[in-house]
Amino acid sequence: MGLLKEGPLSWTIPSIPCPCGRSHAVSVETLAIGENALDDLQQFLLDRNIRSVLVLDDGHTGPILGDLVQKTLSDADIAVASLRYPASDHLRADHEALAAASQAIRVHPVELVVSVGSGTLTDIARYASYLAHLPFVAVATAPSVDGYASTVAALQFDGVKVTNPALAPIAIFALPSILAEAPWPMIQSGFGDLAGKVSALMDWKLARTLYAESWCDAAYQVVSRSLARLFEAANGLAKRDPESVSVLFQGLVHSGMAMAMMGNSRPASGSEHHLSHYWDFVTYQGRRPYIAHGLQVGYATHFILDLYRELPYLGPLKSPVLPVFDDAWQAEIRMRWGIGANDILREQTAKLEWLTRHQTPDRFQGLDGATIGQALAPEFEQIDTTKRALIQMGIGHALGQFGVSTPILVESLNHAHEVRARYTILDFLRGQGRLGPWLDRLLERFPAS
Ligand SMILES: [Zn+2]
Ligand SMILES: [Zn+2]
Repeated sequence: MGLLKEGPLSWTIPSIPCPCGRSHAVSVETLAIGENALDDLQQFLLDRNIRSVLVLDDGHTGPILGDLVQKTLSDADIAVASLRYPASDHLRADHEALAAASQAIRVHPVELVVSVGSGTLTDIARYASYLAHLPFVAVATAPSVDGYASTVAALQFDGVKVTNPALAPIAIFALPSILAEAPWPMIQSGFGDLAGKVSALMDWKLARTLYAESWCDAAYQVVSRSLARLFEAANGLAKRDPESVSVLFQGLVHSGMAMAMMGNSRPASGSEHHLSHYWDFVTYQGRRPYIAHGLQVGYATHFILDLYRELPYLGPLKSPVLPVFDDAWQAEIRMRWGIGANDILREQTAKLEWLTRHQTPDRFQGLDGATIGQALAPEFEQIDTTKRALIQMGIGHALGQFGVSTPILVESLNHAHEVRARYTILDFLRGQGRLGPWLDRLLERFPAS
C-alpha cells in the first residue's frame, strides 16, 4: 500500500519568493506514509550514500518497529549502531537522555541519526544530531504531536520546559498499521492538537482583519487543507482505521511544516494553546494532574469555539481600551506567575507595543460582529463539526474534565491571554469589554461532568 506517499514536498512550498514576501524554507525533503515506508527509508539513505547510522528508540518502540528498522538497514549493508532507552512512561528530552545520545554519537562515528518513536524520542534525536552537526530522519510510531517537522526541540531542563533551536528531520517515515496501533490517548491527543488549529486559524484571521497582522496564504492553506481532510476521516479514526489515522498523522506533520514556513507557530497555535499553557502552569503549581498536551488543547478548543460562536451577536465594534501597565498590574502579575513573571511581563509589553503601533482611531469603524464572523470563514462554519468530532473522539466539553475545575477554567479564561504576545479572541473580547459577561453565559451552557 503506497498510501499517502509524497515524494519531494515542493507542492507545499510556493515558488520563492512567496506572494507573502517571505522565502519559505522547509527542510523536510520526503514524507512517506505507507506499509512499505521502511523500504523507502532504506532507499532514501542509499540514494544519499549514507553508510552508517545511529538508531534511537526505547523499550516500547524498539520491539514494535526499531528492530525492523535496524534489520532493513543492515540488509542494505548500512552499518547500524543502536541506543535503546529503557521502557518508561517518563522518558524526557532532558540532560541525561541527551548526554546518552551524544555519547552514542561520539562512540559510533555515524553519518546520520534515525529516531524511532513519537514526540520525545524525536526531540532527543533532533537536538543531539543538531549538536553533532548530523542530519536526522524520523520514523514515527504515533500520530500524537504536531512537532515531527519542527525546527525547534522541546526539551526539559531541571523540570523547566524550554524550546531550543535545532533542525527539522530531512525525511519522515511512518507505517499506517503501526500508527493505528498507538495507545488510544496518543491518537486522541494528536486529534485534539490538530482540531485546535480551527481556533488558531480564526485567531490569526482575527488579528489579520483587525490589525493587518502578517499573513501567508500558502501556510494557511497547508493547515486548512489538513483540517478539511481530518473531519472527513473522523469516523474512521474512532475505529482506528489505518488510512484515517494516516490522514491525522499527515495533517500533524503538515501543520508543523506550516509553522516552519512562517518561522513561528501562528498557523497552528492560538488561544486554545494559551489555555493549555495556563493549565500546564497550574499543574506545575501542583493544583491539577498532568494531562497530555493534545488532550488539553482539544478540551480548550471547545471553550474558544463557543466564544467565537457568539461573535455575530456582538453588534458594532468599539475602539478597544488598551490595558494600562502600572505598578499595581505589575505586582499582580508577579504574584500570580512567581518565577515566571518576567517572561509574562516581556510578552505583555510586546503585545501592548504591537497593539499601540497598529491602533488607529478608525481601525474598528464600520465593523461589527457579523462582518468579523464572515471574515473568519470557512473556520467559523466548522465550529459545530469540530466540536462534534472532538466529542466523538472522547474529548467532551463537560465542565470539570481533564483536571480543569470550574474555578481553574474561569481563572484561565481570564488570564491565558497573558502567556504570549500573540493576539487572540481573548484579547479581542477584553478590548471590547465583553470577556466577563460572555464567560458567565458560556459557563451556563456547558454540562457538568
Ligand atoms: Zn500543540
Ligand atoms: Zn508565504
